[in-house]
Amino acid sequence: MNTEKLIDETKQGETLQLKNNKKNTRKLFIESYGCQMNFSDSEIVASILTNQGFNTTSQLEEADLVLINTCSIRDKAEQTVRKRLEKFNAVKKINPGMKVGVLGCMAERLKHKFLEEEKIVDLVVGPDAYKDLPNLLEEVDAGREAVNVILSKEETYADVSPVRLGGNGVTAFVSITRGCDNMCTFCVVPFTRGRERSRDPQSIVNEINNLWNQGYKEVTLLGQNVDSYLWYGGGLKKDFKNASEIQKATATNFAKLLDLVATAQPNMRFRFSTSNPQDMTENVLHTMAKHKNICNYIHLPVQSGSTRILEAMNRQHTREEYIQLINKIRTILTDCAISQDIIAGFPTETEEDHQETLSLMEYVKYDFGFMFMYSERPGTMAARKLTDDIPLETKKRRLNEIITLQQKHSAYRTRQFIGKTVEVLIEKESKRSNEHWSGRTPQNTVVVFPKENYKPGDFVMVKIDEATSATLIGKAVGQK
Ligand code: SF4
Repeated sequence: MNTEKLIDETKQGETLQLKNNKKNTRKLFIESYGCQMNFSDSEIVASILTNQGFNTTSQLEEADLVLINTCSIRDKAEQTVRKRLEKFNAVKKINPGMKVGVLGCMAERLKHKFLEEEKIVDLVVGPDAYKDLPNLLEEVDAGREAVNVILSKEETYADVSPVRLGGNGVTAFVSITRGCDNMCTFCVVPFTRGRERSRDPQSIVNEINNLWNQGYKEVTLLGQNVDSYLWYGGGLKKDFKNASEIQKATATNFAKLLDLVATAQPNMRFRFSTSNPQDMTENVLHTMAKHKNICNYIHLPVQSGSTRILEAMNRQHTREEYIQLINKIRTILTDCAISQDIIAGFPTETEEDHQETLSLMEYVKYDFGFMFMYSERPGTMAARKLTDDIPLETKKRRLNEIITLQQKHSAYRTRQFIGKTVEVLIEKESKRSNEHWSGRTPQNTVVVFPKENYKPGDFVMVKIDEATSATLIGKAVGQK
């Protein structure tokens, strides 16, 4: 596809106009929890409401409408939301006109029950119903409660230009798929985000061109399961089998989409998240190898190192198949960083299963990971079929062993960079020093170095002198 043509299709400064529109009089306070998908959705919501007369505010006390975008992945995430709603109760005493709404996965999971359980809530909106917010707000303004938790077969919000909330003006998320068809037995996502559907590649390229025109230098393509991205003209992934021959022949899968975006903006960096081992293809790896601007970093959740537990989780791959994929990645992308998701203490997990997780980690030596204890989620297959039988103390001990081993491997990985010169995209000021910039390598490792005359958005070559398990420390040796 010809990039010049693509650039002409995007109107300059569109998103800018939307932010803080002087004509808008109402104030929206929006807060997000959970995965990057939720943060990206909040930018969609802010865009829809900016067209309804709202400006975003960071002052809770002055808000006309308070929206909390919720996560349901673990019980702790839901408890966090309930505590936050208690806080809103206190604010409502000084701002009685304030309306409160809940969005996201917990809203979808609880539906009308949310109104019964949390009296402060006026509005409950599921992840596929944000375009109905204007109607729902009319209900709320009329003093009626409002709920829309219908999951969609088409909705991808492709026609909504997100309002970038906060952020650093250098990196941004662009969602490419919604929902998930993989029914992992521990996961609520298929119930709270519905069936998989992919977004029109043209609208993805338009959004990326728009971001480039606004000075963004890196985009992360987002989806619960990006590897199963498949555009064939709209509709659910599962209905692809009924597509026409021409639709099948012209379909865009994830490898093609990566090739398209990397070609459309050759100076922009691209990342993607989240991958699923059972759906990742070798084509994706070769496309990453072909384009220098696609970062050599893959987030590849494994959850467990035991094939018996992977079966109980309904993960459609064995330990051996996962290792084969790791070997392929290491062969095709020699300096690729890999991170993981691991669950400790899944029902029926034995000490042997746990040892298999540790030995798999020893084999891969992940760069970093996200590790949690199993949290039973209502409505999931595991909750219905399996007893949460691993004692809390055992879960904690196993999780600690996994985290400790990961820290050892993270330090091993970062030590490899000492003495080397790496490419860093400056994102912001270092949290620890206002004399230092912070950015990331293509391998997604954080680097901190003295500011000198560089600025956010610059690609800088940095010589690494020291390393902690999470951060590289160095000195700039020149612009890329
Ligand atoms: S792939 Fe599995 S864990 Fe990931 S969102 Fe889908 S069902 Fe959940």
